[in-house]
Amino acid sequence: MRRILELMDWQEVTCHGDQLRGPCPIHKSSSERSRSFSVNLNKNAYHCFGCGSKGNQLDLASEYFGLSLYQAAREVCQRTGIEVPIRGAFRR
Ligand SMILES: [Zn+2]
Repeated sequence: MRRILELMDWQEVTCHGDQLRGPCPIHKSSSERSRSFSVNLNKNAYHCFGCGSKGNQLDLASEYFGLSLYQAAREVCQRTGIEVPIRGAFRR
């Protein structure tokens, strides 16, 4: 989740332990100081109180990049230098 947020250049406004709040990168909060977007780093989960979008880190990448879950996973792996886990379960 942390890597995904870095890919999006997202900056939290408040931070309480694993819980970060800030402007929503999906519906583009009008204010930089908005806290409608909530992220739990420990649970790898996010939720936006503005647009209602929620899910795990891959759902977030998928929403943000406008890609399918599969494509988003590949995109994130490529951008962060993680080997794409494409063999086995993901074989097409
Ligand atoms: Zn939102």
